[in-house]
Amino acid sequence: MTLVAPETGRRVPELLMPAGSMHKLRVAIDYGADAVYCGVPRFSLRARENEFRLHNLGEAVAYAREHGRKIYFTVNAIPRNSKLHGYLRYLKAMADLKPDALIMADPGLMMITQDHFPELPIHISVQTNTMNYAAVEFWRRFGAKRVILSREITLAEIREIRQRCPDIEIEVFVHGAICIAHSGRCFMSNYFGNRDANQGACNNACREPYQIFLKNPRKDDAEMEMISSDDGTFLMNSKDLRAIEFLGELAKIGVDSIKVEGRTKNDYYAAMVARTYRRALDDIYEHRPFDRSLLTELEKVASRRYFSGFLTRGLEERLPADELNFQNEEGDQRWRTHAYAGCVKRQDADGTAWFELKTRLTEGDTLEVFFPGQFESFEATAGKMLYRGEEHGVLSGGIGEVAMKLPFPVPPNAFIARALPVTPAL
Ligand code: SF4
Repeated sequence: MTLVAPETGRRVPELLMPAGSMHKLRVAIDYGADAVYCGVPRFSLRARENEFRLHNLGEAVAYAREHGRKIYFTVNAIPRNSKLHGYLRYLKAMADLKPDALIMADPGLMMITQDHFPELPIHISVQTNTMNYAAVEFWRRFGAKRVILSREITLAEIREIRQRCPDIEIEVFVHGAICIAHSGRCFMSNYFGNRDANQGACNNACREPYQIFLKNPRKDDAEMEMISSDDGTFLMNSKDLRAIEFLGELAKIGVDSIKVEGRTKNDYYAAMVARTYRRALDDIYEHRPFDRSLLTELEKVASRRYFSGFLTRGLEERLPADELNFQNEEGDQRWRTHAYAGCVKRQDADGTAWFELKTRLTEGDTLEVFFPGQFESFEATAGKMLYRGEEHGVLSGGIGEVAMKLPFPVPPNAFIARALPVTPAL
C-alpha cells in the first residue's frame, strides 16, 4: 500500500514489519504496518522462536488481506543439497497462498521458483549483500521485483542506486538489531556454537561478554585485561539501528519500502516500533516536519543503545552532533525508558484488565498504555493486582495472568509499560 503524498506526488515508503507469530503479525498490522514478512523455519532465516509452519501461513495471509496489507514470505536461507529435495513441496504450498512476494537469497532456490512459478514476485534478500547499482541492475535483469539493499550502505549510495536503477523497487532496513559482521558473512555462531547463521540458527555469539587480554612481550608477557564497562566487555555487540529521522530523506530518494528487523522480538516491540514509524511516515505524507520526540518514543522499547548504522557514514562532519541521534530530545543519555508490563487480553465491565505480567509491578508505579490504531497513549498509576484470586501490591514478571483495574476502557492488544527511572549511559 504505497501512498503518494497528494501535493508532491512523492511516494511514501511502505512500512514493512516482521512477524514471528500470528499474534505478532496481528499486532504489527493493528499498530500501523503496511506489510509484514514471515516464513517457515526450514527455509527462512528464523529457525528459532518462529511459530509459522505451512499449515498456519494461510491464516497470516487472510489477516493481511482482510486489512488490505501486503505479506511477503521469507525463503532466504542458503540451503545445503540435503534441504533441496523438500523445496518444491514447500514452494507449491506457499505459492498456492498467493503471497505478494518471496524474499530470497539463494540463486538455486530462485531458479527453481522461477521455473515452476514464474508469476511469483521475488524480492532479493539482504543476505545477498547488494551494495551497488550494478548488482541491483543484475537482479532487475534476472526478473526480481525488488532488492533489499545491504545494511552496510550509505544514504548517498542509496540515492545513486535509485537514480541509476529507476525501474526496480528498493527496500532499506531502518530499525532493529544489526550484525557486527557483514550481513550473511558471519561464521562466529558456527564456530562458537556449531549453529549456522545462514540457516537461521544464529546463537548471537557477538552479543556475549568476552574476556580479552593483551600481552606485552617486552614486559615478561604480562597480561592486561581489556574492560569496556562494569557490566563486562561487549566489544562485538553492535548498537541497534534506528533511522527514523532519515525517513524523509529516504522518501525523497524514492525508496519503496522501509524495513524493521525483529521476527524473534516480542509483541511489545512489534507494537511500539510500528506505531512510531507509522507516525513518522504519516507526518511525511501530511508534510509535517520530523517530530524529534519520536526518537524518545523508540527509547520506550530499546534493547540496546541506538545509532544510525552505516546510513550516515560520511555525513558525520556535515551534520551537527545531535542529528546523529545518540541522545534523546532532552539531550540526556538515557537509552531505555520503559519496561514491557503486559498485553491486554480483555477488560471486565468494572475496568479490570487481564494480561500476562512480563515485568515486576508495584502499586503506585507510573504506567503508560498504548492502543492499537492510534498514536496517543494514556498514563495510569498501577493499583493492586489480582493473582490467583488474591490481591497483591507487588508482583514479579513471568508468573502468568494477572488483573488490574484501569481508569479507562482498553481494547484487546493494548500494551501496558512501566516507566523506568533514568538509566545512565554505558
Ligand atoms: S553472531 Fe552476531 S554478527 Fe554473527 S550472524 Fe549472529 S548476530 Fe550477526
